[in-house]
Amino acid sequence: MKKSDKDRIHDVLKRHEGTWVCSSIFFRELFIKDYAQRIADLRKKGIIIEGKTCDQHNHKMNMYKLTRLDYTEKDQLSLIAL
Ligand SMILES: [Zn+2]
Repeated sequence: MKKSDKDRIHDVLKRHEGTWVCSSIFFRELFIKDYAQRIADLRKKGIIIEGKTCDQHNHKMNMYKLTRLDYTEKDQLSLIAL
């Protein structure tokens, strides 16, 4: 079965979990031009993806990071619940 662009982006983010991925990778390696829309789709599914302007290259693209949900974060959430 052919993977959707959304799933291919998710795969790349998972491979680099916890580190920033420049969106030029989606563009140049996956040939996905509407990556921003696919990121939005993933976020709608409840996947937490952080985004910011790329600071690794001299361009105005965004970079994205899949937030690693570790115990520390869960602990923080339970503290907020209290
Ligand atoms: Zn970049």
